Amino acid sequence: MSTGTPSITIPADLLPVDGRFGCGPSKVRPEAVAALAAEAPDYLGTSHRQAPVKFMVSRLRNAVAELFALPDGYEVILGNGGTTAFWDAAVFGLIDDKSQHLTFGEFSGKFAECATRAPFLQDPSVISAEPGTAPTARAEAGIDLYALTHNETSTGVAIPIVRPEGADDGALVAVDATSAAGGLKFDASQTDVYYFAPQKCLASDGGLWIAAVSPTAVERIERVASSGRWIPASLDLKIALDNSLKDQTYNTPALATIFLAVHQMEWINQNGGLGFSSGRSARSAEIVYGWAERSDYATPYVADPALRSNVVATIDLDDAIDATTVSKVLRANGVVDTESYRKLGRNQLRVALFPAIDAEDVDQLTRCIDHVVAELRTA
Ligand SMILES: *Cc1c(COP(=O)(O)O)cnc(C)c1O
Repeated sequence: MSTGTPSITIPADLLPVDGRFGCGPSKVRPEAVAALAAEAPDYLGTSHRQAPVKFMVSRLRNAVAELFALPDGYEVILGNGGTTAFWDAAVFGLIDDKSQHLTFGEFSGKFAECATRAPFLQDPSVISAEPGTAPTARAEAGIDLYALTHNETSTGVAIPIVRPEGADDGALVAVDATSAAGGLKFDASQTDVYYFAPQKCLASDGGLWIAAVSPTAVERIERVASSGRWIPASLDLKIALDNSLKDQTYNTPALATIFLAVHQMEWINQNGGLGFSSGRSARSAEIVYGWAERSDYATPYVADPALRSNVVATIDLDDAIDATTVSKVLRANGVVDTESYRKLGRNQLRVALFPAIDAEDVDQLTRCIDHVVAELRTA
């Protein structure tokens, strides 16, 4: 294994039109950036308490409701700090006493860690599975929030979203959908809190969290907020709820992030909704997993085809080929962010298959990888 990056030039006819395959921040559609530039003079740099921005927030809330076909009574709320801040907000304002977490990778593990460290909560029940597989929720008496992860971005495992049968009345199902929201189908009535940040399937930028919350979750937020528990204002879901209902955020949001997320969701909704966007990801998944299965040096990391994610593909390479070198050569040719999740520690490529990414480009990516590997083998 050499330390420098071999100088391999990928022929132009193999290159994708857009070389961004990262799992977040991920490809932003050029059409969205152009639309932002066109509207910038009347939008960027204007007050988030005035009509133009409030209207954009209202478009965002409506677009989420339409995209997920939210049942009556569900609300769309938002705040600053991305999904990581939402975990802290959930620990303060959503978990009553004890949560259950399914952990099967880095992200699902982080929320469990937040809940474990909170001094005012009981230690959570944690059901773990090896990376590359998935655990199943089990109803337990005394659990008031079940924490699921729709797509574990670190491993490329996606799970079906269903309420655990036999859960206590009023127990919430909270789903981290950061890399799934907009790319995977689900039934919103199986969830009470479907939360995410928009730098993945929503092809926007980071820094914002968005949550679709059921009437039961709204009740929970209101009850916990009035319970006397100390909650920092920037993490207070009741404050976020009250502001969101007025199409505002508690403090200044990134206006470009909101705009780009709206653009992406309206593009999806105008083209047929979640069926359209999840179909785009499914087509890309078919291409990349099919290629890996036919290849003599690449294998889908997730052994169970039913758990293989349509939005994040993880592909193991034969030990004779160094995946890091492959990623570096791709990067030198303008094809970026195919590195595997660092803490997983595998000889692996990880490729986003988010709806903004064209299946034709995923197909081209597989040709690029084949070319690089053939060159490395003959070097
Ligand atoms: C990216 C990601 C996060 C972290 O999101 P931030 O907005 O960076 O905090 C959390 N959970 C999942 C599943 C993710 O993919």
